[in-house]
Amino acid sequence: MEDCVFCDIVNRELKAKVLYENERVMAFYDLVSVAPVHFLVISKTHIVAAKAIDKENSGVVAEIFEVIAELAKKLELVDGFRVVTNSGKLAGQTVKHLHFHVLGGRVFEWPPG
Ligand code: 5GP
Ligand code: ZN
Repeated sequence: MEDCVFCDIVNRELKAKVLYENERVMAFYDLVSVAPVHFLVISKTHIVAAKAIDKENSGVVAEIFEVIAELAKKLELVDGFRVVTNSGKLAGQTVKHLHFHVLGGRVFEWPPG
């Protein structure tokens, strides 16, 4: 997808600190951390947001969560972590390529602000 920073990262046109990748999924550190550990897990194929998950593409979402569990173990987020996806304007989505923020290393309030 043109004009998509995360597609640029997948295609290696833009650098990122990559934590994990396979044929379908990629994980890399967020450029602007909001927690001691803050990385993003994405589908390599361009899916716009959570609102666009359907029967055709939901397999990769399951795989993303497997990767999240593996990386949480690897990064020793043993006391807990938060997974967030922002879908659409009201949620504050700024990059229109489905991504899951994984946040750890501090306490997170509930409900969120
Ligand atoms: P959103 O606001 O859409 O939920 O999250 C987008 C996230 O992508 C933000 O936390 C932002 O810091 C991150 N981000 C935006 N551009 C880049 C980039 O070029 N590289 C990396 N690693 N993260 C980015
Ligand atoms: Zn994209």
